[in-house]
Amino acid sequence: MTAPWAGSAVNTAVDSARDLVGAPRLPSIAPEMRAAVALALAHARARLALPALDTIWVARPGGYDALTDFRPDGRVAIFLNICADLSPREVARRVLHEAKHAADGPDFCNAHYAEAEARANVFAAHVTDERQTLDFYRLDWRRPSRRH
Ligand SMILES: [Zn+2]
Repeated sequence: MTAPWAGSAVNTAVDSARDLVGAPRLPSIAPEMRAAVALALAHARARLALPALDTIWVARPGGYDALTDFRPDGRVAIFLNICADLSPREVARRVLHEAKHAADGPDFCNAHYAEAEARANVFAAHVTDERQTLDFYRLDWRRPSRRH
């Protein structure tokens, strides 16, 4: 499933019932999830010119999988919704997808929504291709055994 992009300050297409910016924050996450996020961000930074990023974990059943929030001060927040049972690899894919939006910036993402989605999906698929990036091959496809 494609994670829809939304910048709360600039994108009026966001569905407020599914928005993640106001969703309850999660105080901690499973270690394997934290590792997957760190791995994805490291690969994204190696390939993209990224702004300063915050990664925020939220729980909103029925909400978007993830979204990128562009802030007026130039920082970008990647919100990740972990209500669904996610594998670390899927979390990494979502981080890569949102990181591409962060690199593309709010002007491009707003003006060219469909193209921004396609670019983000291609980027995430390319980086997570296990034949090209062994780190991702080692990520567990299974769901975590316990939740934090
Ligand atoms: Zn997207």
